[in-house]
Amino acid sequence: ISERRENAANLLDGLPAGIQKILQTCSLLSEKLDIPVYLVGGMVRDMLLGRENRDIDLVIEGEIKSFLQELADELEAEYQFHERFQTGTLTLSGEYNLDLARARSEFYPSPGARPQVEQAGLLEDLFRRDFTINAMAVELSREKYGLLYDFFGACADLDRKYIRALHRFSFLDDPTRIIRGLKYALELDFHIEEETEKLMDEALKRGDFSRLKLNRVFQELKDLVRSYHNHQRFAALMHRLPAFKLLAYDFEFDRERWESWEDLSESLEYLCSRDYNIKEWGVKLAFLLENMPFAYRDRLSLSEEVADLLDFLAGIDDFIAELERDDDPVSLNENLSRLSPEKLALLYFLAPDQKFRETLEYFVEELAGAGLSIDGNDMLELGLDPGPAVQEVLDQVWAEYLQGGVAGREEQLKLAARLIRERNGG
Ligand code: ATP
Repeated sequence: ISERRENAANLLDGLPAGIQKILQTCSLLSEKLDIPVYLVGGMVRDMLLGRENRDIDLVIEGEIKSFLQELADELEAEYQFHERFQTGTLTLSGEYNLDLARARSEFYPSPGARPQVEQAGLLEDLFRRDFTINAMAVELSREKYGLLYDFFGACADLDRKYIRALHRFSFLDDPTRIIRGLKYALELDFHIEEETEKLMDEALKRGDFSRLKLNRVFQELKDLVRSYHNHQRFAALMHRLPAFKLLAYDFEFDRERWESWEDLSESLEYLCSRDYNIKEWGVKLAFLLENMPFAYRDRLSLSEEVADLLDFLAGIDDFIAELERDDDPVSLNENLSRLSPEKLALLYFLAPDQKFRETLEYFVEELAGAGLSIDGNDMLELGLDPGPAVQEVLDQVWAEYLQGGVAGREEQLKLAARLIRERNGG
């Protein structure tokens, strides 16, 4: 531990006014109640990187409830207090979230074992965090406002763009940190430091994940898939560190899967270029979870969207067979129009051959979004009585349209008139 302090008050002054107001209120309360208060975690990291962050995480060395109450009063906000965990949350009306925790002093077995630094409680709290870059604090107490504490070399890691664990047992203590590490590497475009990667790799190979809460793991995996923007880098990292293994099934991101991943990205790109608004993370997650044992599903608290995509994947071969059987434009249009953009993307990606892909492209480029230039009113004007016949005639014109005929309004009207005459026996 090399304690490093420097003044970051100028960085605090550069934060958005709404955040500054909150921090200054904390500062006044810190003085009033004589309790040290620190800004910690992601906001400190992002402040040093010049990135925006809306989550204010505070650690206080002292009684938390009265601080929380007074802060809520000052900021005219609601608060929630969790007695057991000694944490609290403020519901702010603006766009910021505020979490408060009491510095934990449970790490060192006896007070004598504590390092001889002034902020032992703070140090212990920071030491329990995931990576150096998330383990800095800025003091908010009045007379030391803006003092930055960097006990673990985080500033140097920020300069070198390193994701580095705080100690050798970090991933054995909590394997979900592996997923978090990947997320930060991708999000910040940082490297996973060599020794840290070795520790992650060992934990993935030898760790026992049977006691992990699967829904927590899943939440982190979902955040990972939602937050990255570089497909290739995601694949490369997943190949080296197949973090989906934490769901305790046999997951590898091998060459074959890597190639499929690139195909999937191309499929998504193709559909996005055709103005489909796709929730990409859902499609990617479904792809990555495809081999997961069915019995796990209930334990993951899957959202309905993701569960629905997994069901679709499970039955996709039958669906493809059905589409190949009824491949006339009317059935094709009917079957494909029912699909969400996410399902269409999965179908395009898993197309069994080029012909099937071309059929889907025909749908996307020619059929989807197309419509007749005539409607029910035209049918009435052509002399049809209101009733089911109106839709029936329109359906017949639509079927002809899908076959490539009757492109314009005039032709459609002509065909409708003929069909009506035929109906009337004329
Ligand atoms: P950010 O770091 O940008 O806030 P995030 O929203 O994923 O990212 P949170 O999940 O809100 O972060 O966590 C806030 C802080 O708590 C982190 O900066 C990190 O220091 C700490 N933290 C979160 N999860 C863990 C974990 N599993 N182990 C250790 N520390 C953690």
